[in-house]
Amino acid sequence: MAAASAVKGGSPPLGLQRKARALKEAESSPAHPLRVFDVAVRRVAELTPNFRRITFAGADLDSFGVPGASLDLRIKLLLPVPMHPVSRPGLPGGQLYEGWYQDWLRIDPSERGWLRSYTVRALRATAQGRELDIDFVMHSDSAGHGAPGSDWARAAAPGMRAVIIGPDANAITRATLPSETGIRWDPQGARHVLLAGDETAVPAIGAILEALPADVTGMAFVEVPDSRDFQDIRTESDVSVTWLARTTVNAPRGRLLCDTVRRAVSGPSPFQATAAAASTTEMYAWVAAEAGTVKELRQYLVHHLGVDPRRSELRAYWSQGKAGSGSNGIPIQQEARPQQLSPSLSG
Ligand SMILES: Cc1cc2nc3c(=O)[nH]c(=O)nc-3n(C[C@H](O)[C@H](O)[C@H](O)COP(=O)(O)OP(=O)(O)OC[C@H]3O[C@@H](n4cnc5c(N)ncnc54)[C@H](O)[C@@H]3O)c2cc1C
Repeated sequence: MAAASAVKGGSPPLGLQRKARALKEAESSPAHPLRVFDVAVRRVAELTPNFRRITFAGADLDSFGVPGASLDLRIKLLLPVPMHPVSRPGLPGGQLYEGWYQDWLRIDPSERGWLRSYTVRALRATAQGRELDIDFVMHSDSAGHGAPGSDWARAAAPGMRAVIIGPDANAITRATLPSETGIRWDPQGARHVLLAGDETAVPAIGAILEALPADVTGMAFVEVPDSRDFQDIRTESDVSVTWLARTTVNAPRGRLLCDTVRRAVSGPSPFQATAAAASTTEMYAWVAAEAGTVKELRQYLVHHLGVDPRRSELRAYWSQGKAGSGSNGIPIQQEARPQQLSPSLSG
């Protein structure tokens, strides 16, 4: 694999130095909480018109996961450039190290491929080994430049191999923070919760609600393209779930979500009551959607309602017109050739 920043003569390039150091330290220092896993597609299911569930399996999954519920646990899918092998980050054994991402970015962009973020919808043990479900939104890039993640999921079929980055169960200790494993849900003891998201947040909202205990109250709002995308989510909690379908009423993306959240929390609600009493420890807001939607909701929740952003999780899962997960995607107009797309690690 070509290293884009390789220097001639002198000391070895930074990436190689870092890798050599990481290899040396691997025996004595605590392992990185994330690693590379080799998996294969076991099943593909058309969940709803806009969601495809891909179930992955493979012996590597025996050491994948976190202690407890996966909540909004994020993984990274490595997507190869067509006709090229996957550019694997980290050490030959799959371990990652501080700086692995910068080293991965040094790989020639025409060979490197892409990294995209997805949520663990479910992880379970079966008689045939562990299985991991990822629910992909089947979106298309309106400008026709391609969308590596969605395109990959559209073509996925049983037997196809894939490489993911996720939490290494063997490396996670009591000192590991959930955020280091890819979990952002952190209500810090709050018993009133607000969840709001677009279709990319459906897997996370589903997994979070399934894990919430009975004494948690609150509201969840989910905007999806079509009413046929509504899903059954079971929860023991007292959180009500409102599904919103934008194409049914021809609403612009995010509009229904922002308006409905605003209406819901501006009426009498546990949210408003606790916000008014400035008891921020009692409530927790979790928002994940397109960047513009998150910006608008953040503005409202933080500036009008008094939600403490440090005690909330308000995260862009993707950006309209930009390639890459999260808020740091790069403008799609600059990306005439897919090889030039660069991934984002922000999500
Ligand atoms: C923590 C985290 C968890 C996530 N979990 C999931 C998940 O479980 N399932 C899931 O499907 N997505 C999830 N996402 C969102 C996903 O990473 C992005 O949608 C990503 O951009 C998809 O990559 P792509 O290669 O398909 O498209 P890109 O190459 O990134 O984008 C190509 C074009 O498509 C547009 N685009 C990207 N995503 C969408 C979309 N959803 N709808 C319409 N247009 C879009 C872009 O603006 C761009 O114009 C998550 C993101 C984060 C940060």
